[in-house]
Amino acid sequence: ACGSTTPSLINSAPTIADFQVETVDAPTKESLKDNQILVRNLYLSCDPFLRGRMAGSRNSYVASFEPGNPIEGFGVGIVEASANPDFSEGDIVTGNRFLWETRFVINSLGFVKVPSGSGISAASYLGVLGMPSFAAYVGLISISNPKAGETVLVSAASGAVGQMVVQLAKARGLHVIGLAGSDDKVDFVKSIGADAVINYKTTIDLDAAIKQAAPNGIDIYFENVGGELFDIALKNMNTFGRIAGCGMISQYNATPETAYCIKNIMEIVIRRITISGFVVSDYYTKPDYKNFIQEVSAKFKEGAITYKLDEVVGLEKAPQALLDLFEGNNFGKRVVKVSDI
Ligand code: NDP
Repeated sequence: ACGSTTPSLINSAPTIADFQVETVDAPTKESLKDNQILVRNLYLSCDPFLRGRMAGSRNSYVASFEPGNPIEGFGVGIVEASANPDFSEGDIVTGNRFLWETRFVINSLGFVKVPSGSGISAASYLGVLGMPSFAAYVGLISISNPKAGETVLVSAASGAVGQMVVQLAKARGLHVIGLAGSDDKVDFVKSIGADAVINYKTTIDLDAAIKQAAPNGIDIYFENVGGELFDIALKNMNTFGRIAGCGMISQYNATPETAYCIKNIMEIVIRRITISGFVVSDYYTKPDYKNFIQEVSAKFKEGAITYKLDEVVGLEKAPQALLDLFEGNNFGKRVVKVSDI
């Protein structure tokens, strides 16, 4: 076995039995205290990092959930009542402390209003302009120093982060190779501009397939998955290559017994590889965020960027919608629609 031996409660993949759906009284506007807002959820965001907040995670960079409390994450909602002069009834808001409830009351700290009449849908604030897209921008542009003509390999290329990496890299003249887990996903990643896309589940010799797709080697590996794909990527990196450590979803449910042991770690030395891990929340107050919003919203409005949302309807379906991410059963950025505007 390799990996840490942190004691676990859910020490493998969480199941639907680890969630509970409850009917409770809705909060009322009379219950609002100073600075609180009453929000009705429109969309909730299913993100892999939520696994890190569950008991038993060995990979967390955020505080754990309290069992029995609603899950909290990114969302978009409509303000139904406000005790904060900065927010009014009818405002559409987004933030990362949305509770997985139909309605919730919360201190509005960190909630931001979504511009109205921008021609961008509410769900897009979790998608094309949301946290995973920004993570794509940070990992590729802010930390990987991409140059036209270089080759980038992206894992989970059809997903929330991956599809944006592909398009940002193409726009900068890179040769883009995607890894994806189904033929439909492969077709989609090609349709958004990737030069070559490999179905890593059906390809028998993945190393050979990557070498064929990247005759000049890999300059940048955008790492979303970890495990065996990381190991194979290491063997295909060019000297002085860069790896953007965004995530390692294949290991989020691993136990010390099942964690993948990297075999090619010495390639980091031999090939002088720089690996830069990052967490997107560190970048919202930097100029990178403004640059991201400017570039991506302009390109999205003019149709130069497409973004695939994968919508599940109904709050009660949210637990399975989240678990699907760890089986590759989402196709695009997974959101849960809770109610209509
Ligand atoms: P996705 O929308 O890409 O959904 C997850 C995808 O991961 C699945 O669809 C599947 O795609 C792939 N996957 C799941 N399990 C495995 C496995 N065992 N082996 C290989 N692939 C697997 O998720 P996101 O785009 O939201 O997140 C991608 C990564 O980025 C995650 O690791 C996440 O934790 C990380 N992240 C990090 C951030 C940061 O700040 N550092 C911010 C946001 C995300 P397929 O069918 O192609 O295998």
